[in-house]
Amino acid sequence: GKFKLGLAKTRDSFTSKINDLVAQFREVDEEFFEELEEVLLQADVGFETVMELIDELEMEVKRQNIKDTSGMQSLISEKLVDIYNAAGDDEDMSLNMQPEGETTVILMVGVNGVGKTTTIGKLAARFQKEGKTVMLAAGDTFRAGAIDQLVVWGERAGVEVIRQAEGSDPAAVMFDAIQAAKKRKVDVLICDTAGRLQNKVNLMTELEKIHRVIGRELPGAPHEVLLALDATTGQNALVQAETFKEATDVTGIVLTKLDGTAKGGIVLAIRKKMNIPVKFVGLGEGIDDLQPFDPDKYVYGLFA
Ligand code: GDP
Repeated sequence: GKFKLGLAKTRDSFTSKINDLVAQFREVDEEFFEELEEVLLQADVGFETVMELIDELEMEVKRQNIKDTSGMQSLISEKLVDIYNAAGDDEDMSLNMQPEGETTVILMVGVNGVGKTTTIGKLAARFQKEGKTVMLAAGDTFRAGAIDQLVVWGERAGVEVIRQAEGSDPAAVMFDAIQAAKKRKVDVLICDTAGRLQNKVNLMTELEKIHRVIGRELPGAPHEVLLALDATTGQNALVQAETFKEATDVTGIVLTKLDGTAKGGIVLAIRKKMNIPVKFVGLGEGIDDLQPFDPDKYVYGLFA
């Protein structure tokens, strides 16, 4: 359904190229592996993972005495899933939700333009569909228009947005939001944050302060720190991930705009480099275009 549709671009490029490659019923030779390597690198799978995959495939081809490319496609997807699973700890893709009656606090972080606000709106709608009450905190007080944009998403999802004036202290917004969430017994509070990376020290200081205030007002919170990364930025997303990982305890990644790129292999590169689970993927600009991430479904979906 949606998942496959959203991945159409990656599938068209990555998969159709692999399909073309294997459909030729040619010999599995050095040239075949070179072409496969090229396709995978173009899809942003990442150099290390590609090398690992090629090595594994070459071994398997020898072991099973495979001569031509029939059957290679399933072998490739199988190995991709294996490599994904072996690249880090067992992945917990579920959100760390608090028991009923307690507020779960989710902090959204990420660089401007990656789709943070949109993701917050999508998450709000998703929780509401599950029958949960949701509140948003407009913690990006820095970027002009960020508060209004979150308010628009709040209206769209039908949830309350706690806000202060532009330029105010984001930690103060968080303080207000936690008080309001506790008072109204809200199930989920999702907090937006500013995404300027230009000044790493500022970013760290601000995130630390927000974290501290939230934790002081509600011990144990935030329960999730979700980092939004734009899939279309390719390897650049990895650099951002490193920076945010240093600045705060990122518990999960939301990979946005996966519908807008032919480079869906970035999921594998993130797994290899970060060991932070991708928990959701963004597959469009609409309120319903957010899907929980499932690596098996993802890799096999690319080939389906
Ligand atoms: P923010 O600055 O990080 O809050 O980013 P926004 O939420 O404002 O999103 C920036 C742009 O990306 C907007 O035009 C969104 O519609 C678009 N966008 C966000 N998520 C997705 C997605 O999953 N797919 C596509 N195609 N566009 C997205």
